[in-house]
Amino acid sequence: MQGKRFGRIHVLLGKNNGKYPHGNSILIDDDTTALIDPSLTLVELHRQTVPRHIDCLFNSHYHEDHFAGNFLFPDAPLHIHALDAPALRSLDTLFDYYGMDRGATEAWKPVVVEKYHYQPREQIVELADGAVFDFGRTRMRVVHTPGHTAGHCCFFFEKEGLLFVGDWDLTWFGPVYADATSDLDATIASLHSIQALGAPTLVSFHEAGICTDNAVEVVQRYLNVIYEREQMLLDFLTLPRTLEEIVKRRIIYRKDYNVVWIDAVERNSMLLHLGKLMREGRVWWDGERYGRTTG
Ligand SMILES: [Zn+2]
Repeated sequence: MQGKRFGRIHVLLGKNNGKYPHGNSILIDDDTTALIDPSLTLVELHRQTVPRHIDCLFNSHYHEDHFAGNFLFPDAPLHIHALDAPALRSLDTLFDYYGMDRGATEAWKPVVVEKYHYQPREQIVELADGAVFDFGRTRMRVVHTPGHTAGHCCFFFEKEGLLFVGDWDLTWFGPVYADATSDLDATIASLHSIQALGAPTLVSFHEAGICTDNAVEVVQRYLNVIYEREQMLLDFLTLPRTLEEIVKRRIIYRKDYNVVWIDAVERNSMLLHLGKLMREGRVWWDGERYGRTTG
């Protein structure tokens, strides 16, 4: 597995440039060893790179591509934010949090168990914003950045100037807020708080990988995708539309992207945009159709 070191912090680069379902994991090889978001790449190649024994395991949030390697370390206490922890204690709760419809849930459940090795976890340490971990020479601070999921966290290594941003992945696609636990206002606030931390190096779980130039601008460009989607939605609502028409328009996901859960995630995301626009008085709803207010 390819990687890059920052002091005792190793970024273990995922296959295919960390594109989903793969991703970039973090190994802290210090007096205390820790692993953040063990990916499918790590599952396939872990013997060469990662020690057999890991003292503690961290997940930035409850998504399947981030917990795929947890099962390799059954004795390591798993650290995850208190708001996301229930999803890793119970598969039914995980699916409540995903917020898929019944058909997608039935199709996706066996995949999460077989391909992503979901195993309910007993030994969970619940994280809170601001918690600090000292691994020996490396210190890490938990930064709660909700919106993608309610408990999504970034991990900040201040001395090394490195912020692991998890699924705030800085891609051209833009931020994802598609679960039942997602929140659009929280997404915007979290991305501003990432900018405010001013870390010179951002490491994302997916494609953008390691960003060392113009971090504030890169986050701003990523944040702007939200407003581009909002404008597309407003343009579409020049004529009143039902929610199902809005879902079919596929403002977020490509029309040719056909996985079982695609309508559910487009619907969840659009409901968040519609909720924001209605709170701002820019969109109305008559119980059936949504439309754009004039002026
Ligand atoms: Zn995610």
